[in-house]
Amino acid sequence: DPRTYQPSKDALKDRVILITGASDGIGKAVALAAASHGAQVVLHGRSVRKLEAVYDEIVNAGHPRPSILPLDFEKAGPDEYEKLVVALDQEFGRLDGLLHNASMLGERAPIEHHDVAKWMRTMHVNVNAPFILTRTCLPLLKKSADPVILFTSSGVVSNPRPFWGSYLVSKWASDGLMSMLAQELEKQPAMRVNSINPGAVKTNMRLQAYPAEDRSKLREAHTIVAAYLYLLGPDSRGVHGQTINAQ
Ligand code: NDP
Repeated sequence: DPRTYQPSKDALKDRVILITGASDGIGKAVALAAASHGAQVVLHGRSVRKLEAVYDEIVNAGHPRPSILPLDFEKAGPDEYEKLVVALDQEFGRLDGLLHNASMLGERAPIEHHDVAKWMRTMHVNVNAPFILTRTCLPLLKKSADPVILFTSSGVVSNPRPFWGSYLVSKWASDGLMSMLAQELEKQPAMRVNSINPGAVKTNMRLQAYPAEDRSKLREAHTIVAAYLYLLGPDSRGVHGQTINAQ
């Protein structure tokens, strides 16, 4: 069971793993956990200040020194993704893991009243950015002996509900992209493509989504990372095209 996976100390040793949205919440917790199991993590986010704080935490704990790649997915054009991948290629020559974790909640409103510009922004950050980043990173991933791509799903996919607007549609699209890509890469036997649904986790996004709920009952991000480490590491060989629950 991925949820109770107990990785060895070196389970992710020397794996180069790019984590989007690693400056906060679940992405930050996964970055710290992956580094503590030997991964060479590449921290992506928007806020350089927050990324530097995660960097310091990893270095101070004595884990492999991470890299920082800030990029605002709302504003970045294809050239900036290209530069990011060139930087990765120069530093590591390959990419072993790509975790698409960054996303935004966007506006929750009935379709009739949903703001068009806000809808497009959410779709851009949650769907277009993972598409462009995947497309740009694939040549580097193919240089790895055991590459993995992991998308982030949500409970809104198995349980659609009203008023969740662009966020719900973006998560359906992200899982569709995962499933299609998994089939396209079937002939690349080493490549695994999956989605993970973190479940309810105490983060800023959760607070934004459910401002009135009792936060004391929510799981902390660092307690749900086992399935992430499983799917990002070599022990998940053979798991492909699936959506896995972290809780
Ligand atoms: P947080 O809001 O805590 O963190 C979001 C991360 O995404 C931050 O690192 C943020 O960077 C980054 N990000 C947001 N917008 C952009 C942008 N335009 N460009 C670059 N980076 C951006 O969210 P969570 O940790 O809660 O969520 C992580 C993932 O898990 C998301 O995909 C979410 O949909 C999913 N999820 C979360 C659940 C929960 O209960 N928390 C439940 C189900 C799914 P910065 O800090 O620099 O702004």
